[in-house]
Amino acid sequence: MARYREAVCRLCRREGTKLFLKGQRCLTDKCAIEKRNFAPGQHGKARRPKLIGYGLQLREKQKVRRVYGILEDQFRAYFEKAARSKGMTGENLLLMLERRLDNVVYRLGFATSRAEARQLVRHGHILVAGKKVNIPSYQVVPGQDVVIREKDRQNPAILRSLDLTSGRSVPPWLQLIRETMSGKVISAPKREDVNFPIQEQMVVELYSK
Ligand code: SF4
Repeated sequence: MARYREAVCRLCRREGTKLFLKGQRCLTDKCAIEKRNFAPGQHGKARRPKLIGYGLQLREKQKVRRVYGILEDQFRAYFEKAARSKGMTGENLLLMLERRLDNVVYRLGFATSRAEARQLVRHGHILVAGKKVNIPSYQVVPGQDVVIREKDRQNPAILRSLDLTSGRSVPPWLQLIRETMSGKVISAPKREDVNFPIQEQMVVELYSK
């Protein structure tokens, strides 16, 4: 599966905001946004231009794509599916991204970042409704259990992630039972459950040109 392989802190610096791509490091003063909050590259220190129109729409799209770790082609496919679904396209898009299995694993606190969550899924550590699912883009539905495979429940990396994320709140559409390393999807996510600032209408406007 294709994925972004460059230094991810550059992505935050490009967007001028924390995208929380590196787990625990993002909460420390080692975060590149804390130390060097200017765009990467030779002219990065120049004043950020005030964005309007296309530039603003492009940055909003890139921000969503980068938060969820999706490459352009797959993101476009999500958009087209969202546009074909009933309701508001931008909201449909965000809610589809929230229902990805790697995002659910991250939101439950089994991993400190979505990239780490994707690796847990790819390596077969996650069961959904009792069956191993190793597809990060898998869409969960209400009623499904998302649990750590029994033989991985002493895995030090997963235990450490659960410990590090213990202060983080689990969104209301998910339920976590920390002791058994199990989660449940109790309802579909709502727009207000998306926990980073984004103007999804800008993404819709960009792709509707
Ligand atoms: Fe972004 Fe995290 Fe890197 Fe900070 S440490 S720049 S929030 S990825």
